[in-house]
Amino acid sequence: MNLVLMGLPGAGKGTQAERIVDKYHIPHISTGDMFRAAIKEGTELGLKAKSFMDKGELVPDEVTIGIVRERLSKKDCEAGFLLDGFPRTVPQAESLEAILSDLNMQIDYCINIQVDKEILMERLTGRRICKNCGATYHLVFNPPAKPGECDRCGGELYQRADDNEETVQNRLEVNIKQTQPLLDFYEQKGYLRSINGQQEINKVFADIENLLQGLVK
Ligand SMILES: [Zn+2]
Repeated sequence: MNLVLMGLPGAGKGTQAERIVDKYHIPHISTGDMFRAAIKEGTELGLKAKSFMDKGELVPDEVTIGIVRERLSKKDCEAGFLLDGFPRTVPQAESLEAILSDLNMQIDYCINIQVDKEILMERLTGRRICKNCGATYHLVFNPPAKPGECDRCGGELYQRADDNEETVQNRLEVNIKQTQPLLDFYEQKGYLRSINGQQEINKVFADIENLLQGLVK
């Protein structure tokens, strides 16, 4: 079961990733975790990655791809893996195809958790935080009893600058621009499967289970 998981911020990708790895016992491979592990093990590529990260620079593709290759060659990936946050670009996706072909593997599905932009905006801009005690609320999913007031301490609720409409809108647009070519790439390969992420969390996972049923040996 070789999977790539995609979804815009707020689509619920993290939650679904957790459920998938729990149920199917495949490793959850995210770029951040991969880098941390390679650095901790002190591999040559890990140390190379660290030298860029220490300088606050982006890790170049050849290093990232080398680390992905090492990670996917490990024994725990024999029964499958869930890639999350990699690939980010079409050249990376092409490199991934080459790595997998070397390892005699192939992607089964690229799962895209699809949520409309308007709904993502609602999810991502609804957070409110108490100025006094730091408790967090959400206007839609976890609203305070009295608007603008903390249930716990009566403190005033505010919206972080990161959560404001304009910032979120920009972040989403950048993400959409980056991911669309990747979705097109996987669509052309025939790997892309869209899952309706606008449903309740359990229903989203049920749809993923239905899709993956055929891959379980
Ligand atoms: Zn409070």
